[in-house]
Amino acid sequence: MASQVRVRFAPSPTGIPHVGNIRTALFNWLFARHMGGSFIVRIEDTDQARTVEGATEAIFESLLWLGLDWDEGPEIDGDGFRGDYGPYRQSLRRDLYKKYTDQLVETGDAYLCSCTPERLDEMRKSQREQGLPPGYDRHCRNLLDAERPSGGPQVVRFKVPNDGETAFDDLVRGPVSFQNAVLDDFVIMKSDGFPTYHLANVVDDHLMAISHVLRAEEWLPSTPRHVLLYRALGWEPSVFAHLPMILGPDRSKMSKRHGATSLLEYRDKGFLPEAVLNFLVLLGWSLDDKTELFSRDELVNQFDLARVTKAGAIFNMEKLEWMNGTYLRGLSPQALAERMIPYLENDLPSQVPRPLSGDYVGRIVPLVQERLKTLQEAAVHTEFFFVEDVAPDSKDLVQKGMDPTGAIAALETALARLEALSSFDGGPLEAVLRPLAEELGLKTGKLFGTLRVATTGGTAAPPLFETMEVLGRDRCLARIRVAIAVLQG
Ligand code: GLU
Repeated sequence: MASQVRVRFAPSPTGIPHVGNIRTALFNWLFARHMGGSFIVRIEDTDQARTVEGATEAIFESLLWLGLDWDEGPEIDGDGFRGDYGPYRQSLRRDLYKKYTDQLVETGDAYLCSCTPERLDEMRKSQREQGLPPGYDRHCRNLLDAERPSGGPQVVRFKVPNDGETAFDDLVRGPVSFQNAVLDDFVIMKSDGFPTYHLANVVDDHLMAISHVLRAEEWLPSTPRHVLLYRALGWEPSVFAHLPMILGPDRSKMSKRHGATSLLEYRDKGFLPEAVLNFLVLLGWSLDDKTELFSRDELVNQFDLARVTKAGAIFNMEKLEWMNGTYLRGLSPQALAERMIPYLENDLPSQVPRPLSGDYVGRIVPLVQERLKTLQEAAVHTEFFFVEDVAPDSKDLVQKGMDPTGAIAALETALARLEALSSFDGGPLEAVLRPLAEELGLKTGKLFGTLRVATTGGTAAPPLFETMEVLGRDRCLARIRVAIAVLQG
């Protein structure tokens, strides 16, 4: 590689980052890491009206959560930055955009426009009525200097050639071209003195020596404008690669109604960052159309722009859950316990004392690890391990084919046997309870089912003997007594 790979993730802080934004970040990061290049974060905060408070912080938080570290970019707090091309927040680079705007006006590639919002509204209305394509009608482009109003708010517009076409090669989509006639004279500098996305993006990609622009397909229509700007400024454009759209299962553009789209919501719901990373990379890339699971290192080794797909990528929630479950099962019980504790502390009823004991959670983990799809489910599956009392339902205590008297008798006999036990480990518990079923003339499943409901309060619970062992003697015996009382009414 003659020149160094330098790619950037350039989000606008106009909302909480969604999976699409972060998929773009991930592809840039992977490409940089694969090529031994640099990954740069640039905050495109020039649209003052659309800037949302907290969005920049959420962007950093999302990147950090997934472990997408940046080589150059803003410091998280304050105006500081690291890298040789900063600052990396566009609001701190306004003098540069002004300089290049002036240059474009000077060279005749841009012009001042003083059309009022009212005039523009009129123009749009009449275009609609006449069925004409929308776009600026170049009113001010053709004014003689003497005709230009000197005061009042003004914007600067770029002079797009009236005809011909603007073409470029896209690494994903191949050759792309746009008729210049469909590109209107777009604004590059707004009346508030802030540049538009187009100008700031091109100026920064050039000044920051960005080699490849990897961004979502929705930006494709902006690219010919950028190419024209590069040319007018006498610069060489970066290489472009537009990443496929992310679609919901109904193949429409992914949106809120397809489930959580904000990345941090997935964290809050208990998805592991390594699972989300793995899932996101498959939204538009594949190694061989069959391998699904990749570690971060494998991705860095294998990620390749040549295998980015052109077709939209379907966001499949079941697949994400499956993948998360797979990653959860791959953790050691101790590691899973550590990941689970913050969620449990957040989700368990308030009477459960915090902090939770790591050892205790570590004993529970092997009993639920198989069944978990998210960390957020942990509380539901394990609450009975933490609370003092459970409330078994008499209907559930009486198994199919049993009657209440039979269930009471079974629980009373079990209670007596368990009271006599010196060890409450899973092995001895099983050694006592299995033969008891036969003695009572019950199928083991019936007896165990009743005991499960009595000791856990629910019908779906992990393996009975291990569960009882973790619950411990006192709690099990007390709960069985309560269950008997419930049945006695
Ligand atoms: N600021 C744009 C965004 O919010 C950047 C698009 C690009 O990468 O050029 O996504």
